[in-house]
Order: sequence, then structure tokens, then C-alpha cells
Amino acid sequence: MKKVAVIGAGTMGKGIAHVFAMNGHSVNLIDISQDALNKAFVTIVKNLTRMVKKEKITEAEKMAALENIESFTDLKEGLAKVDLVVEAATENVDLKLKIFKQLDELAPKKAILATNTSSISITKIAAVTKRPEKVIGMHFMNPVPVMKLVEIIRGYSTSNRVNKAIVKLTHELGKVPVEANDYPGFVANRILIPMLNEAIYTLHEGVAGVAEIDTVMKLGMAHPMGPLQLADFIGLDVVLAIANVLYEGFGNPKYAPCPLLVNMVAAGKLGRKSGEGFYVYTPGSKELVVAVF
Ligand code: NAD
Repeated sequence: MKKVAVIGAGTMGKGIAHVFAMNGHSVNLIDISQDALNKAFVTIVKNLTRMVKKEKITEAEKMAALENIESFTDLKEGLAKVDLVVEAATENVDLKLKIFKQLDELAPKKAILATNTSSISITKIAAVTKRPEKVIGMHFMNPVPVMKLVEIIRGYSTSNRVNKAIVKLTHELGKVPVEANDYPGFVANRILIPMLNEAIYTLHEGVAGVAEIDTVMKLGMAHPMGPLQLADFIGLDVVLAIANVLYEGFGNPKYAPCPLLVNMVAAGKLGRKSGEGFYVYTPGSKELVVAVF
């Protein structure tokens, strides 16, 4: 799988392109937005430069990785002769189904089509293609160049051959693959999102304040970040979307999103990306300033 197309040059796509390029793959990074592609390239250069400064890679390796990446706004051009596609476009079911129909039409027949979705059914995505046996979940973690885990999710029709090939490839990228079956939230988000939702319920019911809840989980459970800060970091809209996938997918009230989370998203308080969630963030800074509740 020498030649790889990455669809979407946002938070995840640019990290995925970085990792493939660093490992000698030729990467076609594709986005509908030229601006997103430009920003992705700036971030990749910045991150590779940081790795050179830390003496993790040489300047020559950085240049070789950059030479491996080409950017495209035209899907057809970007998909020419690829062996693997990793889709990392916006988390929206209708959009993913539309993209996979196009990938199936435009990518070479032998190409494996992987998705980085956090929660959408791989089986549902695969079903819009004529090659469901070649569709698989490849769920990288954020930030991709740093995080070791990749969840590998088999859809109902994913073949053993494709599963094995993707597990092998993940090892070759220096990552640790963990295999899972296709159920709502897979493993990572099935466990993480109910924990974040429960932290929000704990706040909503007045058990404790934001700082107290985060401190309990940091000092008591040795989590590097409290759950409310982590929810802000992920984006409250994303947390809500995944919570709804679990709630609808299992039909079990234990997954119901907390009304406070629903209200905050409706009010546009999305966490760090909107400047305010459970904490307020100064413009352009990642530092949290003050707890709201
Ligand atoms: P993002 O919003 O940062 O980036 C999405 C990119 O997709 C944008 O640049 C957008 O222009 C592009 N896009 C939209 N429609 C497109 C199309 N038709 N063709 C090509 N590009 C298109 O999103 P993200 O956070 O990088 O998430 C991408 C995927 O990764 C989602 O499925 C998400 O669930 C998953 N994911 C995200 C995280 C995370 O922490 N952000 C972690 C794991 C998985």
C-alpha cells in the first residue's frame, strides 16, 4: 500500500497524512477547501520541524516526508492509482455516505477504503459501495503523530484479508492496532463518552463544580486531563453527536445525553474551539482561564 489518499485536511487528516508520509508512503491529501489544505501543510511543516529540533528525525527525513505529500481539491485527480483511501472528512453521516459512493466510483477497484469515523457504523458506510469487503474503520487518535492507538473496526462484510492488511500496515506505521467489531462507539468512545456525559450530569445535578470534578479525576484517577476539560478539548458538539449515536444505536436510556450538554451546544458553547465551554479560553490561546460554573 504505497500510495495513499487522505480525504479531509482538518485536525485528523493532516495528522494522518503526516504519519503516512513519515513512513515512506506517497500521500495525496484531498479537501474541498484550498484554505484547509494550506493550513494543513503549515501545521505538518511546523510539527516535523519540532521533531527535528527534538532530534527525533533528521532534516533530510523531514524534507523527504514533505516531498511525499501532494494536495488536491479534485477528488478524481487525487484518487488516481491509490492503493488505500483513509477518509477523515467531517463527522456527518450523510456526508460520509456521499463521499464513499464517490470513492467507490473513482478509486481503483483494488483500493481499500478506510474511514476514520469516531462513531458512524462501518457497515452502513460500506453498504453504499460495491466493495463492502474492502471497507474498514481505521480510527486514529488525536493528535495522530503522537498517539499510538489505532482502533481497527471490521464492518459486517469486511474480509479477513483486508482486516489483516490494515492491521499489518498499522504496525508498519509505528502504531498499535486494536481490533473491534462494528457496534456504536466501537471501544474507545463507548467507554469515554458515557464517562464525559456522567461528569456533565454530576455538574448538572450540583454534586460539585467544574474545577472540583476535574480535580477528582486528575488526582484521584491519575487522568492527565479532567473530563470536563477533555470534553471542551474534543468539542461539545462532537461529544453530543457521539452520545446520540450511542443513545440511538443501543436504544438504552443510560446513554441519554445530559440536558446541560444539549443546552450548551444549542447556545454555541462548544468548548475550546468556540472560546467557551466548561471553561473560558482566551482568544488564540489553549490556556483555560476561568471555570464557568
Ligand atoms: P475537521 O472538521 O477538523 O476536518 C474535516 C475536514 O473535512 C475539513 O477540512 C473539511 O473541509 C473537509 N471536508 C468536508 N467535506 C469534504 C469532502 N466532501 N471532501 C473532502 N474534504 C471534505 O474534522 P476532524 O476533527 O479532523 O474529524 C475528521 C474525522 O475524524 C471525523 O470522522 C471525526 O469523527 C474523526 N475523528 C476525530 C477526532 C478528533 O479528536 N477531532 C478523533 C478521532 C476521529
